[in-house]
Amino acid sequence: MYRNYIAGQWVDALSGKTFPTYNPATGALIAEVPSCGPEDVARAVDAATEAQRRWRRVPAPRRGEILFRVARTLEAEKERLAQLLTSEMGKVIAEARGDVQEAIDMAFYMAGEGRRLLGYTAPVELPGKFGMALRDPVGVAACITPWNFPIAIPSWKTLPALIAGNAVIFKPASDTPVLGIEFVKIFEQAGLPPGVLSVITGPGGVVGEALVTHPGAQVVSFTGSTEAGRRISELAAPELKKVSLELGGKNAIIVMDDADLDLALNGIIWSAFGTTGQRCTACSRLIVQRGIHGELIERLTARAAALQIGDGLLPTTDVGPVINRRALESIHGYVEVGIREGARLATGGQIVTPPGLEGGTFYAPTIFDGVRPEMRIAQEEIFGPVVSVIEAADLVEAIAINNATAYGLSSSIFTRDVNAAFEAIRDLTTGVVYVNAGTIGAEIQFPFGGTRGTGNGHREAGQAALEVFTEWKSVYVDYSGRLQRAQIDTSGIVGV
Ligand code: NAP
Repeated sequence: MYRNYIAGQWVDALSGKTFPTYNPATGALIAEVPSCGPEDVARAVDAATEAQRRWRRVPAPRRGEILFRVARTLEAEKERLAQLLTSEMGKVIAEARGDVQEAIDMAFYMAGEGRRLLGYTAPVELPGKFGMALRDPVGVAACITPWNFPIAIPSWKTLPALIAGNAVIFKPASDTPVLGIEFVKIFEQAGLPPGVLSVITGPGGVVGEALVTHPGAQVVSFTGSTEAGRRISELAAPELKKVSLELGGKNAIIVMDDADLDLALNGIIWSAFGTTGQRCTACSRLIVQRGIHGELIERLTARAAALQIGDGLLPTTDVGPVINRRALESIHGYVEVGIREGARLATGGQIVTPPGLEGGTFYAPTIFDGVRPEMRIAQEEIFGPVVSVIEAADLVEAIAINNATAYGLSSSIFTRDVNAAFEAIRDLTTGVVYVNAGTIGAEIQFPFGGTRGTGNGHREAGQAALEVFTEWKSVYVDYSGRLQRAQIDTSGIVGV
């Protein structure tokens, strides 16, 4: 039995209710966790409001020291967390280690931010006057996260929020609540004061909505589906809250005739079938120039069909389970849509049951060929191991196909032509662009997020993360000893 951390105490839901979390590879029960409601949210917000008054006054370098200890503790716990991550979320163990490593990187980065949090000064137009712009915390931050990066994504939100002096209430996804709780334990061990960070588990429609609508939570940082993001945006609007949304993707790799095909195939396999295709940045469209199409399809199909599907804890497994039965049915539903739309199923297209894993939820790596850009399988996020291959005549057409979806997260091009690469960098309208690499591989020191339906213009990670969790405060100090009116007392100023 796992408990929630609210006001510095490990507690059950006030209702006493719980819900189960399962291993998607085996179907085995992992644990029961509290199923909270609005009354638990109110308790967490009250504690956070109180704690934030003190936390914002802790000098940022001291806050950074606590985050530095978080980084160190995550390092010490990396293997244990990675094993647990594979068990609760399903991704293969090497990727689970990467998930935890991303949080370690973010913790070190944001700990260092404690000695920067840079504002700026600028010259002012009146003599005997000084101007500066400072960053202030927003207050209490509600951080709501999905299940596909159960440690990394919470780290992208909690760490910048905390270093900036906010208190945080964190709601993990109901498919990975144990990892959310384990993540917060690390902060307690690192000496974060009580109430500054709470974790609260329960259904998004209940706990999430109570958090988003609570007047005491001034900023909402959400990562998840476009549908839930839109709902959150509407719920937060009446209170005019600051809302940062990181939503779905329909990412493409472009392969030009002159590409290094071996390299491109490695990038495609990794981007389309890594994390079983359950990444916001997963490659779900492959835009291939005509001259290379035949050879690419043949070799890609053979590679995909040879991938080992199974329990991610086994080092021989290439592709783990999908998160749950609902996801399995949704993915298979899209495959049926693709067949109905007239795409050619090159490989996969079925639910599979590896030996001894009858309770798991597995889907075969799937490739559709002959896909037209307007088909639903080329437009809608499938969030599973399914990739749609679309032919293009040239670079201009390939870029136009890439840009013509409702999403704009990540894109990539494989080419040996430096001019084509720079044209693509210029014209691809996604928030992240890769050259001669797949659609995944972001590092925490650069802004992360997307255009169009992928979000609402905010970015996570790097310095951009601080924009979400801080308010600018402009300060003017007049030491002239007289009233000086900006924009009015403009003539005859000598100032000496
Ligand atoms: P989801 O169903 O939208 O859930 C995300 C989180 O929101 C969960 O904690 C969920 O709680 C909660 N939630 C659901 N409905 C809510 C509501 N009405 N109010 C408040 N909270 C609510 O998404 P998911 O299935 O976990 O994650 C997959 C999606 O995330 C994909 O679309 C993927 O592209 C996107 N994603 C985007 C990025 C990015 O950076 N752009 C990164 C990773 C994933 P419950 O779990 O309790 O329902």
